[in-house]
Amino acid sequence: MAKSSQLHCSFCGRSRDEVKILIAGQDGHICENCVEHAQEIIAQELTAKHQDTPGGGSNFKLNVRRPAEIKKFLDEYVIGQDEAKKVLAVAVYNHYKRVNLKQQADEVEIEKSNIVMVGETGTGKTLLAKTIARLLNVPFAIVDATVFTEAGYVGEDVESMLTRLLQNCNYDVNAAERGIVYVDEIDKIARKGDNPSITRDVSGEGVQQGLLKMLEGTEVLVPPQGGRKHPEQKMIKVDTRNILFICGGAFDGIDKVIARRVNTNAIGFNVNKDVQEHHRKNMLEFINAQDLKSFGLIPELLGRLPVITHLNPLDAETLKSILTEPKNSLIKQFSRLFELEGIKLTIEDAVLEFMVNKALEYKLGARGLRSICESILTDAMFELPGTGEQKLHITLDYAERMFGKSKLSTLKVA
Ligand code: ADP
Repeated sequence: MAKSSQLHCSFCGRSRDEVKILIAGQDGHICENCVEHAQEIIAQELTAKHQDTPGGGSNFKLNVRRPAEIKKFLDEYVIGQDEAKKVLAVAVYNHYKRVNLKQQADEVEIEKSNIVMVGETGTGKTLLAKTIARLLNVPFAIVDATVFTEAGYVGEDVESMLTRLLQNCNYDVNAAERGIVYVDEIDKIARKGDNPSITRDVSGEGVQQGLLKMLEGTEVLVPPQGGRKHPEQKMIKVDTRNILFICGGAFDGIDKVIARRVNTNAIGFNVNKDVQEHHRKNMLEFINAQDLKSFGLIPELLGRLPVITHLNPLDAETLKSILTEPKNSLIKQFSRLFELEGIKLTIEDAVLEFMVNKALEYKLGARGLRSICESILTDAMFELPGTGEQKLHITLDYAERMFGKSKLSTLKVA
């Protein structure tokens, strides 16, 4: 076939053979390279527009509240964890006070208050960070430290956390530059052992090193669509000086590290599980940077995470409150769903206790409460709509039967 009659991209001129995909339009074609390129231009244009209209085009008008007000707002969504709430409220308040001061070119340099939260999985770390971001009306991104690898290795560059933040605020760079990034599982990039390793540690120390500049504040070139940097991709410049980084992790076993430091025997032979749990809870109250260093976070990183707080494990009473008390608690959500069908849902108190006991028994924590609720209410949600029924009362007997039928009941008791 003659070259001239071959299909080609109307934008870059590459022929059908030179590209992977050629999309046909009315009078022309476009290849995958040009689509990608166009996407980047759109992202940049949108960014430029936002920057041209200072604050005006943004959906993110910073809403800074006093620490006591922040705590009160958190109380509406997160049960317990008073210590963490207070520490967070103060750190966040100071951080944004600092952001505002910067704008007035104040002389005194206040340091950034990046935060580490230590607590078992499912105790509300992400929920706290997310709720604070919502109150302050700042862009928010959740990233998992375990996906990052040192630049040059398979995995994501640390810069990709900023891609996520930009995507979550529609590339409003100004807003992203005072957003909050929640870095989950920070404990999983701990150095193995307290000794700096001789060989390079791709997934641990290398990533911690990669995080340093970003946490402290620097200008980072961010690939708008994520992925590895490559020369053809146009980058977006993001200044991280005012981005608040909140890191969270379970730091399994750190109680023993703290115990060693405070010279208390938390793991004695005669100590039963309850007492151990009590110790663990109390141990976390003593946590400091030294313990995190012993766990394997490098001192330079800890220097950039000056605020450390802990979350308590959730006991039965707290789990029960989580079911009913928060503004958008599970029971309130399910009641609302039934209400929309004209059905009034009532639940016996014993059922709530049953749910809590199952969550504890199967070690599902607060995260498991949702599936337990679902397992009990799904049949009713399937059968009742359209029947004209106006009431649904859940008894313990009904809950036990429904739960018994569900696949959750086949889980092994932890
Ligand atoms: P973590 O980040 O500590 O692993 P999350 O914040 O993701 O845990 O919590 C998981 C879910 O459990 C939340 O979405 C929330 O529904 C519930 N939850 C956990 N802790 C609390 C709490 N203290 N108050 C209210 N809900 C909670």
